[in-house]
Amino acid sequence: MSAILIINAGSSSIKYGLYKAADLSVVERKTVEVDPAQGYDAAFAQILKLIDAHKVVGVGHRVVHGGRDFSAPQRMDARSLKALADLIPLAPLHQPHNLKPVELVMKSHPQLPQIACFDTAFHRTQSRLNQIYALPRAMTDDGVVKYGFHGSSYEYIASVLPQALGDKAKGRVIVAHLGNGSSMCAMKDGRSVATTMGFTPLDGLMMGTRTGAIDPGVPLYLMEQKGMSAAQVADLFNKQSGLKGVSGTTADMRTLLAAGTKEAQEAIDLFCLTAARQAAALVVDLGGLDAIVFTAGIGENAALVREKICAHLGHLGVAIDSVANTQKNPGAVQAAGSNVLVHVIKTDEELMMAKHVKAALARPGTAPGIHP
Ligand code: ADP
Repeated sequence: MSAILIINAGSSSIKYGLYKAADLSVVERKTVEVDPAQGYDAAFAQILKLIDAHKVVGVGHRVVHGGRDFSAPQRMDARSLKALADLIPLAPLHQPHNLKPVELVMKSHPQLPQIACFDTAFHRTQSRLNQIYALPRAMTDDGVVKYGFHGSSYEYIASVLPQALGDKAKGRVIVAHLGNGSSMCAMKDGRSVATTMGFTPLDGLMMGTRTGAIDPGVPLYLMEQKGMSAAQVADLFNKQSGLKGVSGTTADMRTLLAAGTKEAQEAIDLFCLTAARQAAALVVDLGGLDAIVFTAGIGENAALVREKICAHLGHLGVAIDSVANTQKNPGAVQAAGSNVLVHVIKTDEELMMAKHVKAALARPGTAPGIHP
């Protein structure tokens, strides 16, 4: 029985999923914590053992950044690995950790096909206008543009939209991926038209610990007047803000929903207001709205958050059924007479990546190299 291994590696932990190659059923999904005393290679040794033990025929890697060129999953070899390493300055917190396992597997199993799946790739269907900032052209040419993220999640949702929405899957849909990291994607016919994250995953919605969109004057003030360094501002905006910063306690939505304090309430209210504003902006890109889909940890589980966001969008014809919305695994939750469908769909980024690996293995003559 052969298997496909999917790796989602960060700095402190490595998540993996093993799937039967034949039908992509799950063999196991686990998170291996990296013990700083033992080092990364020791943690990864456990995963390397799986390759032989389970007859792994292909490995898929979540890679946060594919830059402007990689608009589809990419077979890894020395050249494509170098091209991805060149993108490290665009995602210094994630890209190096995503690429490390590619290198280690290349060393231990040089013949094993490895496929990188990018968080950015799904958004490369967007128009140029939706990808550029109001910056001088030279900077745009230099790659300071909107890349967008959460692509594997959006691609998975797009793949199951027809089952959930029928004909409306071809329509104007906003997918709200609300987790620790949160973003939204405006889709037409299942393709990305616009998204809320930008050059980095800091932009757009308020998140667990990230600010989301903020006046670009704020970091300037903090650096010029408060003497903060770039590293301190990066830590503040990435790790101390969002739900955690506003509540003063935690980034965890479930804990905040149960807390009952005025600070927790304010954090939840700001999260929902910000999300609704960003959704309303995406309606401009779509020219109207046929459906909203909620997904990821908060989107799938926090009924109150869905209800509040939809309440802010009532003037766009969005109405939620508060009984359906509070069921477990609710599916369709729009009220009778709502102009906009509202659905809850569980995302599965790893399965999406496993499908890509399987497809790549089945393509005859898929040579390694760069196929942007
Ligand atoms: P990540 O971006 O790390 O993949 P997840 O998609 O797992 O994050 O989402 C994590 C968030 O989902 C946390 O804020 C967590 O509190 C929230 N969440 C998970 N389950 C529930 C629940 N039952 N009710 C409310 N929030 C939940």
